[in-house]
Amino acid sequence: MAQISKNARTASATQRFFCSCGGEVKMKTIFSGGKIRNVAECEKCKRQERRPRDFK
Ligand SMILES: [Zn+2]
Repeated sequence: MAQISKNARTASATQRFFCSCGGEVKMKTIFSGGKIRNVAECEKCKRQERRPRDFK
């Protein structure tokens, strides 16, 4: 179900991305090697990518 918000043009960080499996991609903050890293993870298949747009 694709819903397109009419407020999509507001410059906020609430962009939503979807995995090719249909799951929603959520940003996660993880600690790795003493550094904070943001990764994008699919809720459904748990696939992880560095950036949400890599899920295309
Ligand atoms: Zn997925």
